[in-house]
Amino acid sequence: MNVPAAKSFSSLPLSVAVQANLAQLGYVEMTPIQAASLPLALAGKDLIAQAQTGSGKTAAFALSLLHRLDAARMQVQALVLVPTRELADQVTQEIRRLARAADNIKVLTLCGGSPMKPQMESLSFGAHIAVGTPGRVLDHLERGSLVLAELNTLVLDEADRMLDMGFADDIARVARQAPKARQTLLFSATYPEGIAQMSAQFLRDPQTVKVASSAAPKAIEQIAFEVAESERLHAVSALLEHYRPTSTIAFCNTKQQCRDLVDVLTAQGFVALALHGELEQRDRDQVLIQFANGSCSVLVATDVAARGLDIAQLECVINVDTTPDAEVHVHRIGRTGRAGAQGLALTLASLDEMGRIGRIEQLLGFEMRWQPLDSLSKAPGGPLLPAMDTLQILGGRKEKIRPGDILGALTGEAGFAGSQIGKINVTEFHSYVAVQRSIARDVVKRLSNGKLKGRKVKVRRLADLSEA
Ligand code: AMP
Repeated sequence: MNVPAAKSFSSLPLSVAVQANLAQLGYVEMTPIQAASLPLALAGKDLIAQAQTGSGKTAAFALSLLHRLDAARMQVQALVLVPTRELADQVTQEIRRLARAADNIKVLTLCGGSPMKPQMESLSFGAHIAVGTPGRVLDHLERGSLVLAELNTLVLDEADRMLDMGFADDIARVARQAPKARQTLLFSATYPEGIAQMSAQFLRDPQTVKVASSAAPKAIEQIAFEVAESERLHAVSALLEHYRPTSTIAFCNTKQQCRDLVDVLTAQGFVALALHGELEQRDRDQVLIQFANGSCSVLVATDVAARGLDIAQLECVINVDTTPDAEVHVHRIGRTGRAGAQGLALTLASLDEMGRIGRIEQLLGFEMRWQPLDSLSKAPGGPLLPAMDTLQILGGRKEKIRPGDILGALTGEAGFAGSQIGKINVTEFHSYVAVQRSIARDVVKRLSNGKLKGRKVKVRRLADLSEA
């Protein structure tokens, strides 16, 4: 993991309450645009930042304007100009979520296309932050329903789009009504010529911030559970039964712990497989094939064995043992959550491991949320079984078998529907096909009695093999 400390919100001069709120929202790491712009923005600099939607740019300017806000003064202290009503709504929502740490911050949306009167009424009650389209904001300024005398932050969001939409004049007129001693933050995905003019006009000694990639942020919900050593492995099944994740990596600190956990989970009816350094290459491949094709729901792994694994769509990470290395923790939990979807990271810690938790909290910059183990209950829905099952066919690349041959045999003569068949992996000597769990035995029977590429084949459920 690359110096996560620099990516942690804890490196920023934000209050404990704000840090805690970020943790609650699942914001664990800053996105590249946040890491590049927040230190400057919080220091009061004007910025020209290149950022796309989905890069976390809203939080980049929202945290900054909230930082300077005085909740006790019911005056508009920050104004965000955006090109569209849709974006105004999104920005307003994100600001409200980030403002939860403070008392009663009032955010108003002022967009064209909505009746004027309710907006004027809301403004008359006072607000701290206004988000709106340039034309409508100007309209309010001209009527006197909006006053910018106390403004300390002006944000131009998606400035290039605002220029495209012909808002340049309106923006200029709005900016002229704002105090000179303010901070101006300009965000834009592209840099057409108008942006340079705009920044020369409204920004003071601006810093330019660009990031190589605008990798989408991930939100990770982290919950910790205190366990006694004797209940640790059973606590894992309690977590699985409560949250019912379809795919989980459970990290253990030792190989032995991996083996023990797989034994416990298997005895309880879960489909769990161990991935540790002592597996032979073929066994390792089989484990990964089964996890990736949806026929194993829990992968129990050591950190070393999981290194370099590229597994998409991981719903949950369980830290069966708390790692002594806080950076390893960040690396572990970073495997859950996809762009836009919330990930779940559950950590089991014994009293002896509280020092480790402290170091993790320090690195991440927030306090872990704790929940008692006995608050977990079995969710309905029967045993947590994966949707698929893996069949192993004797014969692979050496026999010139291709995935299409297998799919053809299953959907042709054997009469199964394509929708019942999942991923097919062909290795040198074996092929693996995922099929719906409910038809697995039937497929074995029919394929064994039929032919693949004109020849009889040996087929078995991989699970039967390992049980034998
Ligand atoms: P934006 O580019 O501002 O539209 O943000 C895209 C999405 O990422 C929004 O849903 C935000 O709530 C979310 N988000 C922003 N920053 C972070 C972060 N550091 N970690 C996780 N999610 C984030």
